[in-house]
Amino acid sequence: MTARLLDGRALARAIENSLRDEAATFTGMFHRRPRLVVVLVGDLAASASYVKGKQQAAERVGVDSEVIRVAAAATTDSLVTLVRAIAAGSHGPADGILVQLPLPEHVDAVAVLDAVPPERDVDGFHPENAGLLSQGRPRFIPCTAAGVQRMLLDAGIETAGRHAVIVGRSDIVGKPLALLLAAKGRGGDATVTLCHSRSEDLADHCRRADILVAAVGRPRLVTADMVKPGAAVIDVGINRIDEAGGSRLVGDVDFDAVKEVAEWISPVPGGVGPLTVAMLLANTLLAAELRS
Ligand code: NAD
Repeated sequence: MTARLLDGRALARAIENSLRDEAATFTGMFHRRPRLVVVLVGDLAASASYVKGKQQAAERVGVDSEVIRVAAAATTDSLVTLVRAIAAGSHGPADGILVQLPLPEHVDAVAVLDAVPPERDVDGFHPENAGLLSQGRPRFIPCTAAGVQRMLLDAGIETAGRHAVIVGRSDIVGKPLALLLAAKGRGGDATVTLCHSRSEDLADHCRRADILVAAVGRPRLVTADMVKPGAAVIDVGINRIDEAGGSRLVGDVDFDAVKEVAEWISPVPGGVGPLTVAMLLANTLLAAELRS
């Protein structure tokens, strides 16, 4: 069997099309475009490239964006002050405020993220938004988790009553996704197992998954023998590996082997990544609408 591909790029474009209409309606009503302000600290090439992708997508949809670049030597205090100033309007209207992660090691990332007002927290990382999600009344859902759920919904992959195994318990991907899939209602009602670096018998847990999500950051962590025939496998991981002739991006799943076992599989690149960006724009529009 060769699995069906979960094409995140195509789905993201379809979502962008409907967001473009929504943004145009907003602009018509309020005589300004929705606006996202991004804080980019340091000069990590991957972060710069993610931010560029977000800006390009914002432009396609009709959302204004501004990137504020800050030197890697910035202190926690200076970043907290900057985020508060942005919220107060120092860089123009800021419906959504996003601090690109990772921050340099010397910075207290929690303090900086907590400075983003929860009603503009389009990444959904503020404790108030995390709390709302955990209570089943989400406002801003972390973009990658929302993207994975959207991918499942779009493909018609049933979650209700099925066993979802998520590998990786980060606050930005694994944990919010576990909450989403376990929540009552459409795209939820799954029985969720959340695995992590201390889980025993990872392969055993994975083999019991109807829906298997890998969000770790380790190339080929999920091999074909860890996948139940007919499962849906969603690969969140992004890893750059060096090979003869250059480097390339791969996920956490051994794609070529797993696609022979699974019924559905998401590729890297072109899977969850583009959906993360589309969900960020959806959150930005929601923030603009809530503020207006
Ligand atoms: P993280 O480092 O914060 O968390 C990794 C998680 O993996 C931890 O919970 C850890 O317990 C678990 N883990 C580590 N080794 C393990 C092992 N051997 N077995 C089982 N679990 C193990 O990472 P993150 O921020 O959640 O990101 C995870 C991956 O997803 C990374 O590759 C990242 O680049 C990628 N990512 C992709 C997108 C996207 O849009 N596609 C968005 C965010 C993150």
